[in-house]
Amino acid sequence: MSNVAGAPSPRTAGLEAIDHFSASEKEVLPGRQLAAIREAAPSFREWFAGSGSPGWVRTCDLIALPYPRRYALWRAALSPAPYVRIFNRMLAVRWRDADGSARTMLVEPTEHDLAANTPYFAAMEARHPRMRSMAVVVHGTVEGHLERLGIAPEEVDYLTFDHLHTQDLRRWLGTTKPAPDLVAQGKVPEDMAGEPLDPVFPNARLLVMRAEWEQLADGALHPLQRRWYQQRTFGSLRTDRVEVLDGDTLVGPGIALLRTPGHSIGNHSVVLNTSSGIWTSSENGVHAECYSPERSRIPGLRSHAREWGAEVVLNANTPELAAYQVNSMVKEKLVADRGGPGGEWVQHFPSSELTPWVGSPGTSPSFVWSGITHGSLSLA
Ligand SMILES: [Zn+2]
Repeated sequence: MSNVAGAPSPRTAGLEAIDHFSASEKEVLPGRQLAAIREAAPSFREWFAGSGSPGWVRTCDLIALPYPRRYALWRAALSPAPYVRIFNRMLAVRWRDADGSARTMLVEPTEHDLAANTPYFAAMEARHPRMRSMAVVVHGTVEGHLERLGIAPEEVDYLTFDHLHTQDLRRWLGTTKPAPDLVAQGKVPEDMAGEPLDPVFPNARLLVMRAEWEQLADGALHPLQRRWYQQRTFGSLRTDRVEVLDGDTLVGPGIALLRTPGHSIGNHSVVLNTSSGIWTSSENGVHAECYSPERSRIPGLRSHAREWGAEVVLNANTPELAAYQVNSMVKEKLVADRGGPGGEWVQHFPSSELTPWVGSPGTSPSFVWSGITHGSLSLA
């Protein structure tokens, strides 16, 4: 038995349960759930806007990589190009708790060279060995960005991912056993080959929704999701700093995690109240145009919206929960403010954002967010 579903950690002081959407979560029928989400969203927005703002938010570019067009843009895009390019980024968020202590959270701190071991991407690499040199652009690493920003690993209090597809968290959280495969990849020194890994982030807690966490126990992961997780890497992970959440949570002033299942069973969205308004972030959709397909310039999205009455276009590599993913994207759409060109776009910042690419004609969005910037770093 994997230790993944082990005893839950004690609740960290300062995390506050949010119950605005609890009625919608009890609805099994997706149509009724959608109606309940629409009813609950305005009161959540008002309450959340009054919860304050984080002190500082910065965006760190990690990697641009190819991704199948039919996943990124569902059935909507007309382009015959097999791949689009998505840009994976990390958000660094800092704030002061009510007791005055400085807090730091990293959102999507993906170690992308380890993410390449995900079964789906490893198979893609084997099929198209030249793809990496043609289409992958590495912009930075988590550790490199933290050094540049002057954030010591010990200062990081929380790590969170909107879902755990592609993640290998053994270096970040430490392990209970040696990790010889990471020695072979040059990620762990050879003289440490016989030792469990010490965590790179010794004081960080992983914030993860219960369904996302528990599905990684042996026998719990659905076959349709298997190719997207590095499930075997979770069996030796240290779990003493894993904070399993049972629902929507206020992490700090103007910082919330809202359950948005669909892309994965335990997906959540990070919600930030900033000087540019409220933002949501997840991988449910790959671009702001996917949240307003009726005004998208990507060929196919407008007609898809018209024919299907589609309010959103799913990132559909895992379409088995499609109706719930639609609901989650509408939830994000109702929570986020509007901005961008003309001030009309849903401020959803995709953790992997669709980006114009010469290798993918007919899929270029009209703009990209590129990042969220908020506040000044005066927490030291
Ligand atoms: Zn994913």
